[in-house]
Amino acid sequence: ARATEALQRLVVDVPDFPEPGIVFKDISPLLADHDGFVAVIEALASHGRDGAGAPVVDKVIGMEARGFILAAPVALSLRCGFVPVRKAGKLPRETHAVSYALEYGEATLELHRDAIEPGERVLLVDDVLATGGTVRATAELVERCGGVPVGVAVLMELGFLDGRSLVGDLPVTSLMTV
Ligand code: IMP
Repeated sequence: ARATEALQRLVVDVPDFPEPGIVFKDISPLLADHDGFVAVIEALASHGRDGAGAPVVDKVIGMEARGFILAAPVALSLRCGFVPVRKAGKLPRETHAVSYALEYGEATLELHRDAIEPGERVLLVDDVLATGGTVRATAELVERCGGVPVGVAVLMELGFLDGRSLVGDLPVTSLMTV
């Protein structure tokens, strides 16, 4: 409830960014508010715990760039490691790469091949679930390493884009549906 209240109060709608017709959800005022930031990190982290509060994941993945800001403190809260998924060409060592369609054109995401051990359970964390392409590509990267994506935790999902159907069976939890 505290997390939802913080999201409603501190996420700012920016019309026509980055393009005309898009309403961008700007989370930077939320990140700048200590109580709000703590509330959303704890709400996201709760999806990596069992009913008794014990962590059930081995790694937390964040997707460039806002996913990094959220996934790193979630990983610390769950007492596990943080792993970045990055846009093409940014990671320095051997990677797996997955390309996916955007509204216009294509994007490629990469993950270091040794970032996830076979059998490790991985929680995916990002700010916004839109079409689901980013989450789907990231889950595929985890699987290429032999890891097991166990869930997705996002601050907001854009319900009208139905990202959940592209994501498939992987459980998605969002703190707010727009
Ligand atoms: P998808 O791949 O279409 O689901 O888009 C999700 C990715 O785009 C996430 O990494 C988000 O950070 C970013 N994104 C899409 N829409 C917004 C928005 O309104 N605000 C902030 N990020 C967004």
